[in-house]
Amino acid sequence: MKFWRAVLEDTVGLVYPNVCVTCGKSLPQGCRYLCPSCLYRLPRTHFHKDPDNPLAMVFWGRVRIEQAAAWFHYTKGSRYPQLIHAIKYSGRTDLGMSLGRLYGAELKESPFAEARLIVPVPLHRRKQRKRGFNQSECIGRGLARALHIPLVTTNLWRTVNTQTQTRQTRLERWKNVENVFRLRDPQALQEKHVLLVDDVVTTGATLESCAGVLLGVPGTRVSIVALGYATL
Ligand SMILES: [Zn+2]
Repeated sequence: MKFWRAVLEDTVGLVYPNVCVTCGKSLPQGCRYLCPSCLYRLPRTHFHKDPDNPLAMVFWGRVRIEQAAAWFHYTKGSRYPQLIHAIKYSGRTDLGMSLGRLYGAELKESPFAEARLIVPVPLHRRKQRKRGFNQSECIGRGLARALHIPLVTTNLWRTVNTQTQTRQTRLERWKNVENVFRLRDPQALQEKHVLLVDDVVTTGATLESCAGVLLGVPGTRVSIVALGYATL
């Protein structure tokens, strides 16, 4: 088993050289994706320790969520957004899962660990087929492993393939995702505390729309978790 694992890791090494995703320096043995220095310097938000954090405030007066947290500050120009880019645009699904796992380990003693289900923000099936994966699902898978909470990817779905939101205003973004999410089996979520997962939060429009749908089910509660928190 160890032999095959080593062979597999060598093969992966050919595709992705063993360098740190953020600083590009070669990784010490036993490290994957991030070097100890970059992991230590990750601009963590520590939002999970403060219920009234800036990300939670994004949803105040918009949708009733239990709590919200993101792992690190996603600041343009810093090297850390590369973590998300590597997952999304270079197909590093393994990295997504690994980061989800690392963040999950930090959330273990927090109220987020009390959720009963993990639901990633879905992509439209056409977009997912084109990309080959859903980055939020990869992150959710890592969180699920670390927190021992089941991951549910088949219930919440996106009805419309919305256009990319990067150049839109806050109102346009909200209109873009209004009424685009549906549930296949609402009953399965009844009375459950759901951890809704996204890669990066900017305006919160997508999450607000997803949370609204989940909260339409009697007795559900929703908490929000993302890797990055972007300030516009
Ligand atoms: Zn590094």
